[in-house]
Amino acid sequence: MTRVDAFLTNCRLADGRVVDIGTAEGKIAIVGEGAAAALSNSVPALDIGGDLVLPGLVDGHMHLDKTLTGLRWMDHAAGPTRMSRIETDKRILPYLPLSTEERAGNLIRDCVARGTSHLRTHVDIDLESGLAKLEGVLAARERYSDRATLQIVAFPQSGVMRCPGVLDLLDAAVRSGADLVGGIDPLEIDRDPKGQLDGIFAIAARHGVGLDIHLHEPGEMGLFNVQEICARTRALGLGGKVTISHGFCLGSITERKAAEAAERMAEAGVALVTHGAGGLTMPPIEKLRAAGVLVFAGNDDIRDTWSPYGTGDLLERAATIGWKGDFRRDEQVEMAFDLVSAAGARALDIEDYGITVGGAANLFTIAASCVAEAVAAHPSRKLVIFDGKVVAQGGACLAAPTPIANDAA
Ligand SMILES: [Zn+2]
Repeated sequence: MTRVDAFLTNCRLADGRVVDIGTAEGKIAIVGEGAAAALSNSVPALDIGGDLVLPGLVDGHMHLDKTLTGLRWMDHAAGPTRMSRIETDKRILPYLPLSTEERAGNLIRDCVARGTSHLRTHVDIDLESGLAKLEGVLAARERYSDRATLQIVAFPQSGVMRCPGVLDLLDAAVRSGADLVGGIDPLEIDRDPKGQLDGIFAIAARHGVGLDIHLHEPGEMGLFNVQEICARTRALGLGGKVTISHGFCLGSITERKAAEAAERMAEAGVALVTHGAGGLTMPPIEKLRAAGVLVFAGNDDIRDTWSPYGTGDLLERAATIGWKGDFRRDEQVEMAFDLVSAAGARALDIEDYGITVGGAANLFTIAASCVAEAVAAHPSRKLVIFDGKVVAQGGACLAAPTPIANDAA
């Protein structure tokens, strides 16, 4: 007989079925209509009341080390260029009254309260701060490991070849616990695409980790680096482990060139993560996906030194992407949801994802009748469960994970 520790009853699934979901040891043990009544009445059962139940969300791109979450509101201090933001970070971040660990932890809790179970964050690695920010984010990851999983990208925000010594630091970051190697605008920032890309791919190959490369470069300049990234991914057999972040160029080149780039990315196994906004051309998400490119999404900056905007809510982010991409029909809005859920899980290589028997019991409930309504209206998350325990309720993170109980509603 199937063992069940607790039931969530009257759960509306994305396909419209209303079922009971039984969990055991952090996994989903049973999903079925009337399953709670049929199996036992001796385990705790929490009535979800017909609300929609969706799998824990996946934030595929964020910057936990830059956030100002938990601090008093601060005016945006940087100028209008990327270089100004890079330099302003060095002036501000080390002197804030809250540490990297504290600020990162505050933002993780905000994300968990909004139904996020998995995150990928970039963390600045530069000559001035060395591995200090990584150490802070690693500590936050450890502290909140019972609320969410966290992948860390060692991110050379200030550049690689223009800052001799950064390649060694990136290597040290991976040895210290970073999960992926990052990169940034190899032409625009470094003016040495071969140097940067050869350097970061060598570290990834040496340690058997993936890469996630920020590519803001527009037009032909960006396209050149998309091609270079695809070529190295194929040559090193790293297909499925490489992501391009933003890829704004894909939205600002001719349709024919974008289609060719999509084909090349799909063949090489290079994914794209988008945040939809930013005042630059959004990549053609539907066309990329149709070509077989794995496209997923993330919030990017959330109330930080780069942007005052963002709440950490991935349903709100999906709505922003849908609004910007002119996704109006339900199936298009559902695609926006896929960017922050199942597609993100594939990109982050998260096994046992989804509300299915054997899946991890990571999910949230929301007062919506279907996925499209959940995205468009994104009301607050009623209940968030991670590893079979309640981690947030009524839009707020609990002090500690709590077992599902009859009276938790
Ligand atoms: Zn970023």
